[in-house]
Amino acid sequence: MPSFTSSSPSLSADANAIMFMDERERARILAKAALFSPPSATLPDGRRDLVGLSREEITDILAEIGEKPFRTKQLWHWIYHQGVTDFSRMSTIAKPLQEKLAERFIIGRPEPAMVQTSSDETRKFLFRFRDGQEAETVYIPDRREDRGAVCISSQVGCTLSCTFCHTGTQKLVRNLGAAEIVSQFMAARDSYAEWPSLKGETPRLLSTIVLMGMGEPLYNYENVAKAMKIIMDGEGIGLSRRRITLSTSGVVPLMDRCGDELGINLAVSLHAVRNDLRDQIVPLNRKYPIEEVLAACRRYPAASNARRITFEYIMLRDVNDSDADARELVRLISGIPAKVNLIPFNPWPGSDYRPSTRERQAKFAEIVMNAGFASPIRTPRGRDILAACGQLKTASERARAGQTATDE
Ligand code: SF4
Repeated sequence: MPSFTSSSPSLSADANAIMFMDERERARILAKAALFSPPSATLPDGRRDLVGLSREEITDILAEIGEKPFRTKQLWHWIYHQGVTDFSRMSTIAKPLQEKLAERFIIGRPEPAMVQTSSDETRKFLFRFRDGQEAETVYIPDRREDRGAVCISSQVGCTLSCTFCHTGTQKLVRNLGAAEIVSQFMAARDSYAEWPSLKGETPRLLSTIVLMGMGEPLYNYENVAKAMKIIMDGEGIGLSRRRITLSTSGVVPLMDRCGDELGINLAVSLHAVRNDLRDQIVPLNRKYPIEEVLAACRRYPAASNARRITFEYIMLRDVNDSDADARELVRLISGIPAKVNLIPFNPWPGSDYRPSTRERQAKFAEIVMNAGFASPIRTPRGRDILAACGQLKTASERARAGQTATDE
């Protein structure tokens, strides 16, 4: 936030008004998120899922069955460091207690309803949750290193309807709970047999998280934040905040909170440099226009030269890819520690956009790079299995859409 001195009472009043409006807007967003809450973490048979609970919550429910707080640390280690899903494998816990725990709790995973591996080794999971809802998770191996990123979904469907995005054509069904967000990562690790967690900085395949799957993570902030705190806990999965990136379309009131509370990396889906165009491509722009989004980036606490903000820019032929667009982009982000990811558009059935030509992409990248910003042109990954950026949409929803089209 801008700082104002007490010697300028009118500015101070303005600052208060802005803070009050932000507070009100934050409360509105969180209240709306609650309308799309995930189902209860308790199974019909009364057992409770331990995944997705904070340490304090685990301690509380253990107290209800007469167990001491030190058990939380033990359980945490087995669940998040060793990755076990079966209480009988917890060798530091006596058998009678293992049985008592198994009667009351589970260590849940979503069901992998479909797993597809692309010719480029990108792997897409369609995970089905307990109420039958599904979301997609993608593992994207890094070609140069023996590691990669897990792209995690935060909602089933999305409210934002970005016009280049296939996922955005699937209406929001509900938010994912903290358990469902954490367990996407855990289930992906299961698939690569990456348990137990290694200590320290030893590279692993699944070493990075990008919250860029289905949904707008800041519209499900509470569950996303809880999940990321669990994933960052050093006695469990222990992923550093530097290895987690949250991608937002620019939900300004929650960008500050994300920076303050989580300190993870930020990526912003910019995609246009004029408000009239961004209103069309990213309709959320009508609420939070470019200037407000960039102001929130300038004050994002976790941004520095070592941890730059990533601006995502989808390259749409003859729409947003001119030299003038590139120069305006450079002007807009000047002074922000930033890099620009140029994303070739991945066509999908029903979309009117076309990808920019290779020459255009290269010229655009050159202008941005000459201004001092890294501007890699991303290689689309997993195109053959519809796992590339903006292509996610659950298989069941695709099937339904196909059915509707046939019915019509
Ligand atoms: S780009 Fe992200 S926010 Fe926009 S519609 Fe797609 S999933 Fe939603």
